[in-house]
Amino acid sequence: MRKQVIAGNWKMNKTHTEAEDFAQTVKNDLPAAEQVESVICAPFPFLQKLVEVTKDTPLEIGAQNMHYEEKGAFTGEVSPVMLKELGVTYVVIGHSERREIFKETDEEVNKKVHAAFEHGLTPIVCVGETLEQREANKTMEHVEGQVKEALEGLNQQQASKVIIAYEPIWAIGTGRTASAEQANEVCTHIRKALQEKYNGDVAEAVRIQYGGSVKPANVDELLSQSDIDGALVGGASLEAASFLKLVEAG
Ligand code: 13P
Repeated sequence: MRKQVIAGNWKMNKTHTEAEDFAQTVKNDLPAAEQVESVICAPFPFLQKLVEVTKDTPLEIGAQNMHYEEKGAFTGEVSPVMLKELGVTYVVIGHSERREIFKETDEEVNKKVHAAFEHGLTPIVCVGETLEQREANKTMEHVEGQVKEALEGLNQQQASKVIIAYEPIWAIGTGRTASAEQANEVCTHIRKALQEKYNGDVAEAVRIQYGGSVKPANVDELLSQSDIDGALVGGASLEAASFLKLVEAG
């Protein structure tokens, strides 16, 4: 049985005070980590405080991106070593906003995934198609390609620990959710691709989240699907009450 993982991706939102207030509000009300994993992926300046406030609680803290090098002349970047030292445990890699706006490539995503494992961070690898690709019937081919390139070179043990977030780009921040069946169809396809690339054990172990306009009103239906093991949530993770409802659904 795969454990559900509900992750909030705050993107570039909140102030330091708001971030701390959120963590103080939710930290004692979350279900135990043995039941469902809960994660908040926050902007870099809030990470240290969030780790401190949520110590010994079920809430884990993740970053939204990182560089793949340990250190060096990369102005403005943050390394996996820095995140690990802070107590961060997850890192979102290859979010569609990073791929689209900041031109991240599959090759960089793959390097970051390797760097995450080298430094003991769990990568949440985002994949998903544009509306154009969906309408051209290219969804499966595109998503499968992204998954295979992101995981290239990982051994079986590493591959089975990856979290994949299937986020159709047309459903992000638009209020337009993929139907539960549409989302599950792609997640099932991703699992088949993992079976082909690795084996049945890896395919069964990998958690696949759905992301794109997830909210308390639609989360139950999405999470009840056979191949959806959690959610990566933007807008609806910003309010404590809403985030708690999402985790409780997991
Ligand atoms: P929304 O939940 O705001 O649609 O964002 C989804 C997302 O991009 C999470 O990474």
